[in-house]
Amino acid sequence: GAVIGILGGGQLGRMLSVAASRLGFAAHIYEPGANPPAGQVAAQVTTAGYDDAAALTAFAETVDVITYEFENIPTSALDLLEPLRPIRPGRTALKVSQDRLVEKAFLSDLGLKTAPFAAVDDAVDLAEALAEIGAPAILKTRRFGYDGKGQARIMAPEDAEQALADMAGAPALLEGFVDFSHEVSVIAARGADGSVACFDPGENVHRDGILRTTTVPARLTPAQRSDAVLLSANILNALNYVGVMGVELFVTPAGLVVNEIAPRVHNTGHWTQNGCAIDQFEQHIRAVAGWPLGDGRRHADAVMENLIGDDMDRVPELARQPDTALHLYGKTEVKPGRKMGHVNRVIRPGR
Ligand code: ATP
Ligand code: MG
Ligand code: MG
Repeated sequence: GAVIGILGGGQLGRMLSVAASRLGFAAHIYEPGANPPAGQVAAQVTTAGYDDAAALTAFAETVDVITYEFENIPTSALDLLEPLRPIRPGRTALKVSQDRLVEKAFLSDLGLKTAPFAAVDDAVDLAEALAEIGAPAILKTRRFGYDGKGQARIMAPEDAEQALADMAGAPALLEGFVDFSHEVSVIAARGADGSVACFDPGENVHRDGILRTTTVPARLTPAQRSDAVLLSANILNALNYVGVMGVELFVTPAGLVVNEIAPRVHNTGHWTQNGCAIDQFEQHIRAVAGWPLGDGRRHADAVMENLIGDDMDRVPELARQPDTALHLYGKTEVKPGRKMGHVNRVIRPGR
């Protein structure tokens, strides 16, 4: 049977491996860290760094197609892999999403609304950007940020100095603060044949920069709902994308503002495991394997809650609740802020 190569062995790689296995594929995980969560379920694991050319080559030679669970794969590794096997989603999507500045420029060139933004490399840039954009604003590192890390809020101009210090010399981006009523995301998929399918938008609540819950359906008017889906399709088509993407949106009175995109399965799409016949992980595997996209229609309302750090203490009680599906990642070490699992509460019609 065919082998799906997955770069990254965290929970997303784990759930992709399960989906691959269910479709009769074998998953081969490539992960620098020891004992990755995906290693417990994948058929094969390579533990090696992204600078290990021999290991990368050997990995590529065992697989039919390469995908990934995170966007920050070093360019040198991608350069080595690309001539050996197809990488899906492709390099353009990675290039765009590895750098917030490139990503914001791409989105705004597509004609989509984004927060006002400007590149900031030093104090002079920051002063100019603040003069143009105004406070409140958020300074973000261009690369490697997640879960709100690498961000500093500038509520008033006097916060600028500390915010720049927080960037520790890394190239950054100033974003104007978007006055949104709530946050939603679209989990969108595009097949190798160019067809696009979107799951119903979910509504997301963050705490301390980390996603806590996703609720479907999201509070959106019919017009906002179709706008969310159409703009997501627009992004996927522009990238000639193959696979699943997460598109994060702010809902404002002036319309939907695109916050960021993630070229992979997405935490805000975990509800699909229990709300749809075909979930985001299967949809991604279908797309990268060149299969037709599946039917991702929602058959129930759902609330996904992340289990973070000590939330794991609630597992025995959660395990007793009806209509509650637990998804645990097999991580042995509990750390504050660490995503340990999630729970999907299914709200069935008529109950
Ligand atoms: P993720 O874990 O989703 O990848 P991240 O670290 O890449 O997060 P963002 O998604 O850019 O960071 O920001 C995290 C959260 O901070 C957003 O979901 C939103 O709540 C808030 N936020 C980010 N940018 C803005 C903005 N320009 N205006 C208002 N709020 C913002
Ligand atoms: Mg992000
Ligand atoms: Mg985000």
